[in-house]
Amino acid sequence: MKISMVRRADALGRMVLPEEIRNALGIAEGTSVRLTLDGGRVTLEKETPQCALCGSTENLCVQGENAVCEKCVNSIAKI
Ligand SMILES: [Zn+2]
Repeated sequence: MKISMVRRADALGRMVLPEEIRNALGIAEGTSVRLTLDGGRVTLEKETPQCALCGSTENLCVQGENAVCEKCVNSIAKI
C-alpha cells in the first residue's frame, strides 16, 4: 500500500499525520514514533519497544521508557 499526501508545517514545525497513515501503522494517541533523517528523506516508524541490553522485542519488562527482556532480567538476577 502506498499513501502520499502533502501537509504544511505550522510555525513550530508541527503537522498532522493523516488518519489513514495513523491507522495503517496502528498509531494511536500516546504512541511513540521514530523520525529518521536520511539524505533528503524523513522516515517515520512506529517505535517498537526493545530490550535495552540485547535488542530483543519479546518478553519485555517495561518500566517507564525503558525495557529489558525476561532473559536479560534472569541473567542479571544470577549475578
Ligand atoms: Zn535482553
